[in-house]
Amino acid sequence: MERHLFGIRGFAIDTPEFGALRGRRDAAIVVENGRIVAVGNFAEVRRSPRAAGVRWLEHGNVAIFPGLIDCHTHLPQYAVVARGQSGLLPWLRENIFPVEREFTGPKARVEAPQFFQQLARHGTTTAMVYAAIYEDSCNVGFEAARDSGLRIILGKMMMDLGSYGQLQPKKILSVSLLESERLCRRWHGADEGRLEYAFSPRFAVTCSEKLMRSAAELAGQCGAYLQTHLAENREEIEKVHNLYMPARDYTDVYEKAGLLTPKTVLGHCIHLSDREINAIAASKSAIAHCPTSNLFLGSGLMKLDRCRAAGIAIGLGSDVAAGPELNMWQVMRAAVDVQTARTFHDPTVPALRLSEAFYLATTGGAEALGKRAAIGTLDVGKEADLTLVNVDALLPYSDPREHLTGLSKEDVLALCVYRGGPHATAETFVRGRSVYRAASQPKT
Ligand SMILES: [Zn+2]
Repeated sequence: MERHLFGIRGFAIDTPEFGALRGRRDAAIVVENGRIVAVGNFAEVRRSPRAAGVRWLEHGNVAIFPGLIDCHTHLPQYAVVARGQSGLLPWLRENIFPVEREFTGPKARVEAPQFFQQLARHGTTTAMVYAAIYEDSCNVGFEAARDSGLRIILGKMMMDLGSYGQLQPKKILSVSLLESERLCRRWHGADEGRLEYAFSPRFAVTCSEKLMRSAAELAGQCGAYLQTHLAENREEIEKVHNLYMPARDYTDVYEKAGLLTPKTVLGHCIHLSDREINAIAASKSAIAHCPTSNLFLGSGLMKLDRCRAAGIAIGLGSDVAAGPELNMWQVMRAAVDVQTARTFHDPTVPALRLSEAFYLATTGGAEALGKRAAIGTLDVGKEADLTLVNVDALLPYSDPREHLTGLSKEDVLALCVYRGGPHATAETFVRGRSVYRAASQPKT
């Protein structure tokens, strides 16, 4: 195997523990064959034997972060971001199902490569993604994910109640299971685990108990992920209550179907009782908190402190297109804003600090996906999933005296959370491979 060795110089910032922000000014990170093999002060690393033969990338004034992790988003919906002004169920009917219905193979062939390119451009290196209900377009999505170089968990949307597909209702269930299993066998674990499969029953409103139970069984047999939505909106909860009368609550519907597993990621989880929070914690399922989406659809304010106190692993999700953009910096900002809004009504609620929101988008997301040993921080031995941010692009004035030397790690993070986005992404790496490089960056 050819030895691939390079180094990056910049302000390295990560968060190994919730609330603990680690900053290393003028740091060097050396990457060999996709892994971080040295991190430390640039001058020291450069003098060390590790630096022999290292090709140093020229990026100028950059901050180096672990790649951002998006634990919940929807590939076929990106075309209609920021569309609609209603609550979840009418928004799905009016704005989303018509778009997903058209997301067949040919449409996916046009949009999927752009979608993954946009993720990389926003500094996202790992994403857990829902496709549409069609097998062919999910296959096309996986092909685009493979070509993008990103770390992607993807699954065909499963619905057998009120689905937007053409099949007769009697056939939907068996076909959905068959196609999902086929996709899983083809893609789960591809490229040494860079691509993985998630069985994806949409939510209890559009899924029969049989579908949910069968999806859970198949995921267990294949060692694949499960993803679904839970307790996002009051009208949705009422509907689930009417559909599943014998269940204690919404979470109980999923518990009974076997959907709550350590490989399950539950989107939203806003309106949960203590019993439900404890049940999720006991099952070791994770939560994808999607604050931009929750504000856009007016779904509610997630009780992050309660879920964290119960010991549930929590990551962040853009939830495009209910979230209006893929920008995880904006999702972090909204996560902070949502907890601040809760403090207005209840002063005992702890505010969420920027470093904690950043944790959720990196280490927390890695934990939610069971990947904490591989990604999430800038430690030696981790796979080199990195995003490089051009801090000059975030400063209000172009003043050389304001360059990185004058900024603390907190300043740099705050600039990213409040002003960050694709205009400032210099380069994005997954396993040490460049998956996006800004046109304005110098060639190396
Ligand atoms: Zn969603």
